[in-house]
Amino acid sequence: MSDLSPGLRARLLLQKHGFQAAHALGQNFLLDEGLLSHLIDLSGVGAEDDVLEIGPGAGVMTYLLAQRVRSVAAVEVDRRLEPVLGGLLEGCENVRVVFADALKADLSELAAPGARVVANLPYYITADVVTRLLLHGPGFASIAVMVQKEAAERMTSLPGQKTWCHLAALVRYFGQPHILEEIPPEAFDPSPHVTSAFLRIDLYGERPVRAQNEALFLRVLSAAFAMRRKTLFNNLRAAFSLHADAAREALSRAELPEQVRGEAVPLEGLARLADALDEILP
Ligand code: SAM
Repeated sequence: MSDLSPGLRARLLLQKHGFQAAHALGQNFLLDEGLLSHLIDLSGVGAEDDVLEIGPGAGVMTYLLAQRVRSVAAVEVDRRLEPVLGGLLEGCENVRVVFADALKADLSELAAPGARVVANLPYYITADVVTRLLLHGPGFASIAVMVQKEAAERMTSLPGQKTWCHLAALVRYFGQPHILEEIPPEAFDPSPHVTSAFLRIDLYGERPVRAQNEALFLRVLSAAFAMRRKTLFNNLRAAFSLHADAAREALSRAELPEQVRGEAVPLEGLARLADALDEILP
């Protein structure tokens, strides 16, 4: 069996273990080594890199990554895949598979600062996973993920665009996102009902937008998008239990109009607002 390609071996292992893909877990596998090698090229990982993979599935991407990088840690929630991954990755000494929920696992225990993420994500938790990688990772160098095309478009949007949202703002604060390629449904097994896109976020070593207190800035960012139809003034009051005068004072110090909506304010303005709040809050 070791003479066979990893894609074919994965198919045989899935069959042997009677595996049925679970739609609820976003199980749309990529088994074509040609496409997966191309995606790994696009991800920009190299021989010196340690990679975190979310959701290895049958493990073909994991296997190919293991041939090209220093180490791979893969987090998979579905224990039914244990014999498949065990079979395919036998002998891959630089791979560690952990069976856990990626939304709960301690990412800093799985990856060190400077590690890179490469994954064909389960789409039902795209936003939560990417948010977690950005906020609770060890400080990744890059995050290259397959997501639904619309999610990729949202994550790469800019202030002023309709799709600008909390996740897009977080992505832009931490790095620069690029949509690298669209992938049709037929590339997956089973095929999803949507077109996908492979997206890479190159994370800044030094972030261009800075606030004195990053934790406070991230709370302001979240408040800015809390209730979209409300003004930033109202969202700020609600999020920080602020008296109207204090909210007015913070906006004025940040040189922001009182009627502005959070989604209309660029990151620099929100950073000024966080700095103003830092001085005003007790
Ligand atoms: N990487 C594989 C591939 O390309 O063939 C599988 C990708 S499939 C789209 C998503 C994988 O994520 C599935 O194996 C699924 O079981 C796993 N998964 C779903 N929810 C998860 C979670 N919360 N934590 C970790 N893995 C999860």
